[in-house]
Amino acid sequence: MSITLDHVEYKYSEGTPMETEALHDVSLEIRDGEFIGLIGHTGSGKSTLIQHLNGLMRATGGDILYNGESIYREGYSMKELRSHVGLVFQYPEYQLFESDVLSDVCFGPKNQGLSEEQAKARAIEALRLVGMGEEYDKRSPFDLSGGQKRRAAIAGVLAMKPEVLILDEPTAGLDPKGRDEILGQIARLHREQGLTVILVSHSMEDVAVYVDRLLVMDHGRLRFDGAPREVFSHYRELEEIGLAAPRVTYIAHALKEAGFPVRTDVITVAEAEEAILCTLNGTNEREKATP
Ligand code: ADP
Ligand code: MG
Repeated sequence: MSITLDHVEYKYSEGTPMETEALHDVSLEIRDGEFIGLIGHTGSGKSTLIQHLNGLMRATGGDILYNGESIYREGYSMKELRSHVGLVFQYPEYQLFESDVLSDVCFGPKNQGLSEEQAKARAIEALRLVGMGEEYDKRSPFDLSGGQKRRAAIAGVLAMKPEVLILDEPTAGLDPKGRDEILGQIARLHREQGLTVILVSHSMEDVAVYVDRLLVMDHGRLRFDGAPREVFSHYRELEEIGLAAPRVTYIAHALKEAGFPVRTDVITVAEAEEAILCTLNGTNEREKATP
C-alpha cells in the first residue's frame, strides 16, 4: 500500500469571489504500516487533506496515486478506493443511526456488497477489535457513553477492512479515560494488525507518544514532515504557526537554562522522567545513549 500526493492543490469555490485556497502544493508519500500524526492550527487544511486521500474531495490541481495509480484516471473506482482508505470523521457518533450497535457497524460492509451474514461477521470482529464485547451488540448506539459511541463509529469503518485508517481528531471532546482508551486501541490496531494509521490531532502530547511520523500543516502548506523528535526540535517555528512542542520539552529546556545538564530533546513524560532522574543521579543520558 502506498499513497502519493503529487503537488496537490485544493481551492474551495474555485473561480468564484469566495475562492479559498485550502491546500497549496502538498507533496508527500504515505507508506505501508506507518503511524502518522497530522497536526496544524485550526483552518490549516488537515480535514481537507484527509478527505482527498479517499477521493471524497477532488484536488483542483496535482495528482494523487494509490499504489502508484492515479485515482483521477478515467474509470478509477472511487468506491474501491474508499474501501481501502477508511475515514473516521470528526464527531463520527453523529453518523450512528441504526437501532442497535451491531446493525450500525454492519452498514459499511453491507454497502460494500457483502451478504448479511458476512457483514455481521465483519461487524462482530470490528467491535471486538475496539474492545466492545457481545454485551454491546444489541444496545442502542444512543445509550452509549461518548467514548463508546466513538468506538462503535470506528468499528463501523474497520468492518470494511481498510488498509489505511484515517481518524479526524478521534479524541475531541472525550474525557481523559475515553481518550486514552481510544488511542490505546488505535495503537494496538497499528501494532497487531499492521494497519496504516493517520491520526489528526490537536494534542502534541498524544502524537509524541503514539506516532512515528509527524506532518505539520500551516495555511494549506506542509511545513514539516519527519519523526516527532525532529519536528519538535523546531518548537520555535511551531510556535510561530500556532503550535508548540509537548510541555515536557519546555520543562527540559527550562531546567537546562537553570543550569541543570538535562537532555532537551525529550518529548514524552516517560523520557522526561528518565532524563531528569539521570541528571539528578549525575549521569549524562546522552553519553549513555550514544554507543
Ligand atoms: P482544519 O481541519 O485544519 O481545521 P480545514 O481543512 O477544515 O482545516 O480548512 C482549511 C481551510 O479551508 C480553512 O481556511 C477553512 O476556512 C476553509 N474551508 C473548510 N471547509 C470549507 C468549506 N466547506 N467551504 C469553504 N471553505 C472551507
Ligand atoms: Mg478539521
